[in-house]
Amino acid sequence: MTGTQNRNEKRFPIRTALIFSLVGISFFLSILFLISPASSQKFSEPAAAEGSESPSEDQGPKIERFDFKLTSNNTFYQVMTAIKVPGPEILDIVKKAKPIFNLTRLKEDSVLKAFTIDGRLQKIEYKFSDYEFLLVERDPDGNMAAKKEELPHETREVVVSGTIENSLYEGALKAGADPQAVVALTDIFAWDIDFASDIHKGDTFRLLSEMLYVEGVPVKTGRLIGAEMENGGKRYAAIYYEGKGGKGYYDEKGRSLKKTLLKSPLRFRRITSTFSRGRYHPILKRYRPHHGIDYGAPTGTPIESAGSGVVKHAGWKGGYGNYIEVKHSNGYTTAYGHLSRIGKGIRSGAKVDQGQVIGYVGSTGLSSGPHLHYEVKVGGRLINPLSVKSLPGVPVPKKEMAQFVAARDSVQHKLSSSGTAYATNKP
Ligand SMILES: [Zn+2]
Repeated sequence: MTGTQNRNEKRFPIRTALIFSLVGISFFLSILFLISPASSQKFSEPAAAEGSESPSEDQGPKIERFDFKLTSNNTFYQVMTAIKVPGPEILDIVKKAKPIFNLTRLKEDSVLKAFTIDGRLQKIEYKFSDYEFLLVERDPDGNMAAKKEELPHETREVVVSGTIENSLYEGALKAGADPQAVVALTDIFAWDIDFASDIHKGDTFRLLSEMLYVEGVPVKTGRLIGAEMENGGKRYAAIYYEGKGGKGYYDEKGRSLKKTLLKSPLRFRRITSTFSRGRYHPILKRYRPHHGIDYGAPTGTPIESAGSGVVKHAGWKGGYGNYIEVKHSNGYTTAYGHLSRIGKGIRSGAKVDQGQVIGYVGSTGLSSGPHLHYEVKVGGRLINPLSVKSLPGVPVPKKEMAQFVAARDSVQHKLSSSGTAYATNKP
């Protein structure tokens, strides 16, 4: 079915009669059944079909096939009317097809095939998913009946691996991954790897994903089951696991890869001022928005980076006093102000881990007393740090560890054993 689908599409309402040569086996059988009592009848020659109206032979039934490539404006009613199907019959077909597919919701760019015999509708075929199609066919009593047919399909697991030359995206596509799988991969490692700026030539990746095969041909990537990346010499692993408590991606030790910013950059603190659009500034003595959170804490209290990332700024910055800004890998930036001192090694370009001490509480800049001024930006826009969803990824529960380890080992075995069987971007 899929093989012939594209060859003879015509924009509605142009219609082309195609005879037989392109019609599937099932139709062939049904035609034989219909006309077999009158064995003297002849078919038109299949060879005459391509592109031309069939030369109508004297007595043979005229079989026509119409492929309607649907635009967003086409309705089923329109399409059927174009081949002169009577209104009541159209409604009858819609009703009968409804449990399988709602014909009032034809998809744009899909193809509806209709077959007529001597001008009378005989059969409709409509493929509505990668492997399912609706078949409406006239039975021997002349009534239309609808059923669902499926093409032979299966889900296989495939491994795609490669080495990055320029970008991960390019490398992965070259290696045979599809864009969806690349996006899934970057989501999974979003808290660990900065795909925008921290991908190096020579970094490697391996993906194990489900792939839908229809009639032996891969058509769609499903879920990513496992992944490995080597980024700047550091190895990252992800294993998809579904347990009693939840499902998602975990590292090799069963820790969730779904991380968020730390709830707070200070272990011990009290909030002294929250995010607001207008606040009386005790030093400037006027109202101005406060786009951060002030945490009251004694001078010298260690400040932890709320997430892993790269230091964008570490030094004096006007009213902020000693100030640190950290860029995280998924569009978040966090900033820390009024520090008494900046941590050792914390300078622009330095990499920091989540929870790493980057500085100490102080009262530098425009500050009325020791506190940490903390800001969070997403895509350059300041947001309320307290509104940042921090559902910490829950690790695999101890009780399920054996089960998880089995799943992990299976995934990693597949990743390593068949890694080169499918694709690599090395010629
Ligand atoms: Zn503040």
